[in-house]
Amino acid sequence: MSESIFEKNGGYVIDEVNYMDCSCGTPVKNVGESAKGVRCDRCVSAQVYKMFPESFDNAVKPSYKPTGRPAGWHWMAEFVDKDGNVFHKGKEQPKLKGTLKPTKVKPRKKTKRRSKDAILVEKYKEKQKLKRAVKKQQDFLNHKTQDK
Ligand SMILES: [Zn+2]
Repeated sequence: MSESIFEKNGGYVIDEVNYMDCSCGTPVKNVGESAKGVRCDRCVSAQVYKMFPESFDNAVKPSYKPTGRPAGWHWMAEFVDKDGNVFHKGKEQPKLKGTLKPTKVKPRKKTKRRSKDAILVEKYKEKQKLKRAVKKQQDFLNHKTQDK
């Protein structure tokens, strides 16, 4: 039995299934008899990635689309977006679409980043307040409040 073209091209048969190795060494199953070479899935992906990196990037990282919905809208008993889509706990209620006014979205409060100094000043003020309160209390106990 002479060597087949398939075997000459590097193919081999296991349990009547044609195999050929990718250039990276990965065996690829079900290769056609006339195949001169194969590429495994990983190498194909890598090649596609090299050829079209942009399209890959888009597929991997879907561009962020702001929905205009507030954080936690999924948990709201009822939320109506600006297009009139009604959601009950995040579940769309198509029948109610357009029947309700959009839920007013409060702009999220931006927490100011306080500087270390500001925090110290605040702590100091808090302390003074406490001191004054304690003093008042003592004055009261000493029946001094009437003087003021
Ligand atoms: Zn490969």
